[in-house]
Amino acid sequence: MHRAAPLAALLLFAVSSAAADTIVLKNGRRITASNVTDDGEHVSYETSAGRFTLPKSIVARVEKDQYGYTSAAASHAGEPPPVSAPQIEPVRGYDDVARLSVHDDSIDFAYIARLESDARSGSPVAVERVAAAHYTAAQFLLTKGEIDSAIDHYRQALSFAPDNLGLLLNLSVLYLRQSQFSAALDPLERARRVAPNSPDVAKLTGWAYYGENKLDQAVEEWRRAERLHPDQEVERALAKAEKDRAEEESYREGVTAHFALKYSGMATPDLAIGILHVLEDDFREIESQLDYTPPEPIGVILYTGQAFADITRAPSWAGAINDGRIRIPVQGLSSVTSELARVLKHELTHSFIAQKTRNRAPTWLQEGVAQWMEGRRSTNSAAALVELIGQGRAPSLEMLEGSWMALSGNAASFAYAYSLAAVESIIQTGGVSDVSRLLDRIATAQSMDAALRESLHADYSDLDQQTVAYLRHEYLR
Ligand SMILES: [Zn+2]
Repeated sequence: MHRAAPLAALLLFAVSSAAADTIVLKNGRRITASNVTDDGEHVSYETSAGRFTLPKSIVARVEKDQYGYTSAAASHAGEPPPVSAPQIEPVRGYDDVARLSVHDDSIDFAYIARLESDARSGSPVAVERVAAAHYTAAQFLLTKGEIDSAIDHYRQALSFAPDNLGLLLNLSVLYLRQSQFSAALDPLERARRVAPNSPDVAKLTGWAYYGENKLDQAVEEWRRAERLHPDQEVERALAKAEKDRAEEESYREGVTAHFALKYSGMATPDLAIGILHVLEDDFREIESQLDYTPPEPIGVILYTGQAFADITRAPSWAGAINDGRIRIPVQGLSSVTSELARVLKHELTHSFIAQKTRNRAPTWLQEGVAQWMEGRRSTNSAAALVELIGQGRAPSLEMLEGSWMALSGNAASFAYAYSLAAVESIIQTGGVSDVSRLLDRIATAQSMDAALRESLHADYSDLDQQTVAYLRHEYLR
């Protein structure tokens, strides 16, 4: 009997539950889980597959679904800004303009248009009056929660007064509060040219870089802010950024067109380069087989054995895991062995399938296609599979849709082998393009039944029968 392969990987399927939390990783990946805890260093969570732990450094935030964080702006609600925003009035002494710009609970656009036409003369006072009007309108819109419209008013004011430091800083704060960090850097760069020694510019620029996870630059900006004007709040933010950076520095990085790889000092650079090389080749092959290009770079983390167990709490039989990033234990390896090459291709296939189906592929299809891609075939398992199925003791494919984590060793062996056989039979009947089409359907279909009907014109019982017939015909004649 074909045992659960030591390189059999497990894919962590999201558990849906009413009170589920969502762990958002820095690579954008979302893990739905329950009982999420955070001890400052690690985030632990439960899924149907058991309890797992991630290093805090890879987690962007945890969203508590029961509190209904829905909008993009609110999704950062659980994570306070690293520093506060300075209070700055862009212009002073235009109370008359403020009164006439917003009255009766609305913005007087006709009045603002008249001020704008006066300001085209370039008169400094006329320009200040327009800035005051748009600033008043923006403040009014913020009380209504209309951040995007407030941003528009700041941008219009800046078209008349491009060097107004208050306008530039207030605009950057609105972007920062919405986690639009690169958009915030644009007015901040202009503000730096206007006021090179402003501690506020350095403080907010540090916030933007921190948000983008550019820790070196965040540390540099906050140190600069401290030199210009010591501030306890900036001091605390700086200490945290330096701690985060020290943690990240223990991992080296390699980036290629499709991968972002991290590895600790225990893995050799040669091994890392070799792995990236193999992954790039695999990427091109799977891309053409499955007719799909994952839109985001795929994260890969190499661990030495002990770190892998500590960080993932994966069962000891799991050779590698794919929880959005491909996590691979590489202890004792100095080059890409044939075994490691198979693991890489298997795990990379999981990444493609997860993205192509939006994480909806049933486990049997995930594992069947991943094994097929790594080059496994049913040669040694066909006879045992047909025997078990003939005795009526084997589960159907439909029963292998969900998580396999509760399966015993023997049941898992059967599940892997039978899934591979099913995928082989689909490919023999209609080619790999049938698998690709099935995956596309799964992304949008109401149910797995519908996806099978629409793409293969078959149902689960047809597929079970087809698989057994294929095994007999292909291997047992
Ligand atoms: Zn797998």
